[in-house]
Amino acid sequence: MEKFEDRYRQAQMQKYECLLFDLDDTLYPLSSGIAKECRKNIEDYMVEKLGIDKSKIDDLCNLLYKNYGTTMAGLRAIGYDFDYDKYHSFVHGRLPYENIKPDPVLRSILLSLPYRKIIFTNADKIHAAKSLSRLGLEDCFEGIICFETLNPIHKNTVSDDEDDVEFVGSSSSTNTSTTTSSSSYEIFDIVGHFANSNPISALPKTPVVCKPQEQAIERALKMANVNPQRTMFFDDSVRNIQAGKRVGLHTVLVGTSQRVKGADYALESIHNIREALPELWEVELKSEVVYSGQVAVETSVTA
Ligand SMILES: [Mg+2]
Repeated sequence: MEKFEDRYRQAQMQKYECLLFDLDDTLYPLSSGIAKECRKNIEDYMVEKLGIDKSKIDDLCNLLYKNYGTTMAGLRAIGYDFDYDKYHSFVHGRLPYENIKPDPVLRSILLSLPYRKIIFTNADKIHAAKSLSRLGLEDCFEGIICFETLNPIHKNTVSDDEDDVEFVGSSSSTNTSTTTSSSSYEIFDIVGHFANSNPISALPKTPVVCKPQEQAIERALKMANVNPQRTMFFDDSVRNIQAGKRVGLHTVLVGTSQRVKGADYALESIHNIREALPELWEVELKSEVVYSGQVAVETSVTA
């Protein structure tokens, strides 16, 4: 009897309860060319809408993306302000969505996984919905945590959350309340900052909440009401995976078979889940063993 109870408890406490999936370049391959087109649209936006000199775009984009998670978050940090919806529609509106193909294989994998499944993307909700619909996966997830979920209001200043600190050492650019008039904002020279071998000022913070900020991941977990220790996080970005690991998630780097620090697993393609993580399907078997020969046992196993 004791043995049965142990097994019963084991099944009741399944190791995972939730799978958290990034969308772009995770649920469809980088080879779709969407990321490349997206980058091009961002660059066009910076030139056409923000009036940034074309010759500076490359360096600027790289630095912003690298330091802030998304170029948009970086643009806000260094002092640009713009309408988020307009930005997203410019950047995503003309993407070649036809390059994202229906993926019935992934669909059947997802549907066979007995866990809560949630999308966690830095992209906006229209892009997420369009991409999932192109993939034929729109009904495979319980919910989508996206840009709008994490940034419900447009903040003119850095978040006043308790864990945010003020800009340090760059006073002139920090307290400027941004307005919609481009002439009124002061832009932090991030290219100059990194060109200086001994930068005197700290980087300004962004009001945008996005991966790989730990705060963004923690907020997403709270919203979804999931325990990081019982959640598996799939993302193609090494730094997102590493941030996920820091907040206690189980992590799967997608798009490469090379495991990096912070990644518990690495999958060349999301299609390899079954081979690489058979344990995700073992729950069902385990519960069957437990139930056999035992009647009238109420359990909360949802597998
Ligand atoms: Mg991605």
